Amino acid sequence: MKKLLIILARSLVAYSAMAVAVGAFWMGTLALRPTDDERRQSWDSEPPLVVVDAGHGGHDGGAVANQLIEKDTALDIAQRLKTRLGAQGLRVLMTRDKDVFIPLEKRATIANDTHAAAFVSVHLNTAVEDAATIHGLETYFSDSKGLQTIRLIKDRLKIPTPVKLEDRRGKELAESIQRITCRRTEAENRGTKERGLTVIHGTACPSVLVECGFLTHKKEAGRLNQAGYKDSLASGIADGVVAFLRAQSLQPRRGLILTEPKSVSPMEPLTARN
Ligand SMILES: [Zn+2]
Repeated sequence: MKKLLIILARSLVAYSAMAVAVGAFWMGTLALRPTDDERRQSWDSEPPLVVVDAGHGGHDGGAVANQLIEKDTALDIAQRLKTRLGAQGLRVLMTRDKDVFIPLEKRATIANDTHAAAFVSVHLNTAVEDAATIHGLETYFSDSKGLQTIRLIKDRLKIPTPVKLEDRRGKELAESIQRITCRRTEAENRGTKERGLTVIHGTACPSVLVECGFLTHKKEAGRLNQAGYKDSLASGIADGVVAFLRAQSLQPRRGLILTEPKSVSPMEPLTARN
């Protein structure tokens, strides 16, 4: 009996020491990670606003394949993205947080009216031909902005009207998201593509449309049905947005190519991509 008590006492001491060691290691790990408060404070006085747009909705279901409906999967990923961006201290506004239809122009207007710093539209892809083999992630940006949009950008960044403006910020945001999200999800990298899609063509802020995968590809659709995979997608997109906004906060005109009109002279030299 005495022997048994000694063994028990020794085990208790050993377990306590182990618990202290694990606790210390855990605390050390925690101490290395920035707290939510620290993340929030790391932005300037007011954190940037990101508009997250879940594609389709209401009577517009988008693509349907392998038992998935685009509007539902897009909303699910968009909500996870909202959580991830919020955890990084950013302000987030969703164009829709339920199953409703919102016209495309209205989605761009929401970003413009709220002075968003970035706009991310979440969609799912489909392949008509070779559906069995085509899979992966691609991100769209629009180089050609409407005249009204260009006017809005110049107004907000106090760029004189005669100066020619080319906006490459969408491309930079797309590349940041594409690179980080493909690494995080191990999805096939189909690259970034230029296309004048309404939601990204009409937004004054850097904006992208992420096609998060192909519903028509059986294996990828299976992954898109898993919470863990949707979380990886959301965390990759969020980190891509944050990396872009961090660079942008150091150089507010980064990604803008400004060309001085020939007829106007002399003028402050405008540095390209400053
Ligand atoms: Zn879509």
